[in-house]
Amino acid sequence: MLDFYNIDSQLSEDERAVRASVRQFVDERVRPIIGQCYVDGRFPREIIPEMAELGVFGANLPEEYGCAGLNNVSYGLINQELERGDSGVRSFASVQSSLAMYPIYAFGSEEQKQKYLPRMAKGEVIGCFGLTEPDYGSNPSGMITMAKQQADGTWLLNGAKMWITNGSTANIAVVWAKTNGDKEDKSIRGFVVHTDSKGFKAKDQKGKLSLRASDTSELVFQDVELAADAILPKSGGLKSPLMCLTQARYGISWGAIGAAMACFEEALEYSKNRVMFDRPIGGFQIQQERLANMLTEIVKAQLVSLHLGRLKDAGTYTPQQVSLAKRNNVSMATDIAREARRLLGANGILAEYASMRHMENLESVYTYEGTHDVHSLILGQAVTGLNAFK
Ligand code: FAD
Repeated sequence: MLDFYNIDSQLSEDERAVRASVRQFVDERVRPIIGQCYVDGRFPREIIPEMAELGVFGANLPEEYGCAGLNNVSYGLINQELERGDSGVRSFASVQSSLAMYPIYAFGSEEQKQKYLPRMAKGEVIGCFGLTEPDYGSNPSGMITMAKQQADGTWLLNGAKMWITNGSTANIAVVWAKTNGDKEDKSIRGFVVHTDSKGFKAKDQKGKLSLRASDTSELVFQDVELAADAILPKSGGLKSPLMCLTQARYGISWGAIGAAMACFEEALEYSKNRVMFDRPIGGFQIQQERLANMLTEIVKAQLVSLHLGRLKDAGTYTPQQVSLAKRNNVSMATDIAREARRLLGANGILAEYASMRHMENLESVYTYEGTHDVHSLILGQAVTGLNAFK
């Protein structure tokens, strides 16, 4: 396994053990089937119980809610290993952990936490996260989905969400909606919506050429009646969903390294075995430069994410630091996947090799959880003090 800078020496025994168990699962249960799942456009739901058994759902949330209570570096390593398999598998776990369980943990009542988190950790209840709307992607503060409180305290939900990972698999959706009709972002609140509620529809997004081994759906809410206690009481304003995104983006920064490692290892192996002009193509300078560039970028990304994880564990990281890691690592992985695919020649376009699948997947990862451009603006604002969004 790629560890050119002996970064393992900086990991604890527990962190290495967590990584080893998820790595073994991905090697044995994900990699053998995922190419065909991708071609078929199918998320392999059969692996959900095994992922739960491994403790990957809500892995960095406390044990009192049935979660593994791991540190954030371990959580990162889990994401890295899952995405070595496929970005769709990592997305499933990220959404369940950071975008569905985390908001319930951070903004939910004690009853909500007890009711949902232990069952979500076991994979018995699957969640999704509805923020993006057809007309509001990078600018979710403009959302038009509305939850109106009725005289008896219950809520009536109307609107639509777009591009929702796990949307048609989920039992519950954490939906972000405006509650008082004005444009003030303060009115944005989170709701736990059961997907079997009357008026709730999830429609599969057809025709995807990326993240094909992942469910992506449009959610439509038509007069969906919600109990008074469906609201996440401690949520308030756009900062609440953004806090969830910071958790998920942190995990993605690690996940992208896993995809890049998978592509590098595939390219390296291929370069040593593919003979052209009477020698392995890995013996030619152009391919060696390609591999040297990939290696260098992966090592840099590994160091960024490990340090970020240590900052997060110390409670001193900032969302802007997460933006830097997400932006850099996903962009790096996208480039590496393309380079690996090229090194593989014609074989590189086949689903039995992983590089082109990773390359296509990473285009989604580049776009979701804040596009690359949006993270540029966040970093630009951090260093200049000037807000380019307004
Ligand atoms: P737009 O916001 O329309 O952006 C289009 C282009 O304009 C981009 O290149 C963007 O960078 C650029 N742009 C936008 N604003 C600016 C600016 N101010 N300055 C410069 N350039 C700008 N959302 C969820 O809520 N839940 C999910 O589970 C989820 N899963 C997803 C899964 C997949 C496979 C995909 C592809 C998306 C998912 N999303 C999800 C949605 C994702 O978060 C949005 O696609 C993303 O925020 C971008 O929004 P948009 O697609 O509407 O692009």
